Amino acid sequence: MKAQHCVIVGASHAAAELCIKLRKEGWQGRITLVGEEDYLPYNRPPLSKTFLAGEKSVHDLLIRHATAYEKADVDCLPGIRAEAIDRENHILELGNGEQLNYDKLVLTTGARVRKLSLPGADLGNIFYLRSIYDADQIRPHIKPGKHAVIVGGGYIGLETAAMLKSAGMRVTVLERDQRLLNRVAAPEISDFFTRIHNEEGIEIITAADVEAFSGDEAVQAVQTSNLGEFTADLVIVGVGVIPNVELAEQAGLAIKNGIEVNAYTETSDADILAAGDCTFHFNKHYQRWMRLESIQNAVEQAEVSARTLCGLREEYDVIPWFWSDQFDLKLQIAGLSEGYDNLIVRGELSQGRKLSVFYFSGEKLLAVDAVNSPQEFMFGKRALAQFQALDRERLADTDVSMRDLLLTS
Ligand code: NAP
Repeated sequence: MKAQHCVIVGASHAAAELCIKLRKEGWQGRITLVGEEDYLPYNRPPLSKTFLAGEKSVHDLLIRHATAYEKADVDCLPGIRAEAIDRENHILELGNGEQLNYDKLVLTTGARVRKLSLPGADLGNIFYLRSIYDADQIRPHIKPGKHAVIVGGGYIGLETAAMLKSAGMRVTVLERDQRLLNRVAAPEISDFFTRIHNEEGIEIITAADVEAFSGDEAVQAVQTSNLGEFTADLVIVGVGVIPNVELAEQAGLAIKNGIEVNAYTETSDADILAAGDCTFHFNKHYQRWMRLESIQNAVEQAEVSARTLCGLREEYDVIPWFWSDQFDLKLQIAGLSEGYDNLIVRGELSQGRKLSVFYFSGEKLLAVDAVNSPQEFMFGKRALAQFQALDRERLADTDVSMRDLLLTS
């Protein structure tokens, strides 16, 4: 068979994984990676933590260094935007006017920040945080004693709040919902994180309806419709992301809440695959369609893509997991708690910095949120994959170790 050309669009975590995995699975043809940013694929989690704090360099962030791509014979084209797909002729149009012929195309285009279109939103010192560029823009504004207002109490908001507070800033978080982490965690975990952030000296304001920003050139205050205004020297907005589906949409591929892919990560065109945050896919474990914003999903879908491209038909079948670091807390989440109707808490919600919450639908375990509790997290992952029923009384008893529970489950 003639050696084929695989073109990967989007220098994301999924792309970094795919390039190398493709070679490992035996792909003989050319591999080209096209990315809009000026960098090779990099880890985004440190952006809101050590990279923002100036403790890590761009070099530290790279998922793989240039030599790894050279060794795998991958042509990397950073700083180039993919503009359009000509499916009929198997051509990718690039922003620099060039074209790439492909046999197989993989879209690993990820997601971009959702922007606020409010009066004053374009004032200076208002930032979003998704890229190295964003973090570099924010860093000079981190000044002890100055006031940072964070709009959005999700992962970005809380991780950034923790970092800025540790750097000596006064910090206020304005969340629209009644509670923090509304999209990703149960009320119990929201209360726990609210307490911790309060204890650390961060002001958490929920149910805040941000309606405008005011100032001359730079922002000076954030205005809400219901809770007055908050002075600000720096504003960081973390109100979620939007999947980058435009390229796929323009090419006429099936789109829902993301680029629709089957269990082999193929889009509605079998010569075009997609992996990572940009995909809308079916999760076998939870028996529903979803879009996941997670590194683990990006990596696992990229592995499936690599196998599909090499002719191995192995279905995507994973239980999602996530993590978030805030101060000395490591939150690890196994599974998806959406739809739970009862839960078991191991540990104290109202004191300490360690606990876990097990979510159930009836008797069926759906998910585990574990704070500074790696054994509960590992147990949860195994239980989700392997067990039918759990001894709930023993699970609630912190005197019973996870090891003992594993032995008797
Ligand atoms: P997110 O997790 O979706 O949280 C956004 C939060 O902002 C939600 O609580 C949302 O509340 C709130 N919000 C929305 N509009 C608002 C408004 N106008 N005023 C105040 N609050 C508002 O998104 P994110 O924190 O921006 O993170 C972006 C992406 O980065 C996500 O994919 C996230 O998973 C990823 N990330 C992950 C990690 C990690 O896994 N550790 C760390 C950082 C970032 P509603 O629910 O009411 O909309």
